[in-house]
Amino acid sequence: MRKLAKPTRDAKSVYELCISRVKKATLKASLTAISPTVQAEAASYEISATAGSLHTMATFPNIGGLSNKEFNKVYTGRMASPKAPGRAIYDEIFISSKICPLCGHGKVTTVDHHLPKAHYPALTVTPINLVPACSDCNKLKDDVISTAASRQTIHPYYDDFDSEQWLFADINQIERVFYFHVKKPTSWSQTKFLRAKFHLKTFELAILFSLHAIEELNDRLLTLEKILAAGGSQEVMDDFLDTAESCKSNHLNSWKTAMYQALANSPWSCAGGFRDLAAG
Ligand SMILES: [Zn+2]
Repeated sequence: MRKLAKPTRDAKSVYELCISRVKKATLKASLTAISPTVQAEAASYEISATAGSLHTMATFPNIGGLSNKEFNKVYTGRMASPKAPGRAIYDEIFISSKICPLCGHGKVTTVDHHLPKAHYPALTVTPINLVPACSDCNKLKDDVISTAASRQTIHPYYDDFDSEQWLFADINQIERVFYFHVKKPTSWSQTKFLRAKFHLKTFELAILFSLHAIEELNDRLLTLEKILAAGGSQEVMDDFLDTAESCKSNHLNSWKTAMYQALANSPWSCAGGFRDLAAG
């Protein structure tokens, strides 16, 4: 939902920094022997991510004869824990965005492996595979791996989904809800359209945005009542249009942009239906 600048740290250097304090000689030898594989997998990742084909990357279990559990410690114990040698890299990624780029709404509280470390251990501390995220998105994505181009979530470092508006909302007068959905821009391929839909579904964003839209409307309810009383539905529509334009200039595909556009396009909402929507 939000594009971020790609980390520039080299995967091999980061990996070697993370394993730099391993004391057990046999483990250190095993982990060091994997370093070229980490570098090669990062290079493949870069090519695949740029082409939008990360779903084609083969999983890589038991790398170097180490179990995934053992390799997972390279991330949890040698990068993510507070005094780990790789912690500075983790922090760089964590603070690269205050808002979760996956939902465009939640507060960043963790770092998500875009390709899950359970299936791609060689990418467990590779910076371009690590994305700042909110805990809800992190949990919803889980360890699921994509098996088709159309079933990939949007990668904040590689995918450009912000050059055109695709997130829109409709208002259901009977159910008194906003219905957020993806509308395919004419320049998009069918795969890109399906990916945007898959992203919304994976992170349950239609529901999340609908809830926040009702809350937003309640926050503005008194003001809207005053505008309606003073200037009628046309004034309310103008207010919705102004707000939509302002939100759009900030984030083209934010739920607020879609919400205020939907309100402005609904004569029923502008004539007072907004209070029915707010009541839910
Ligand atoms: Zn999120």
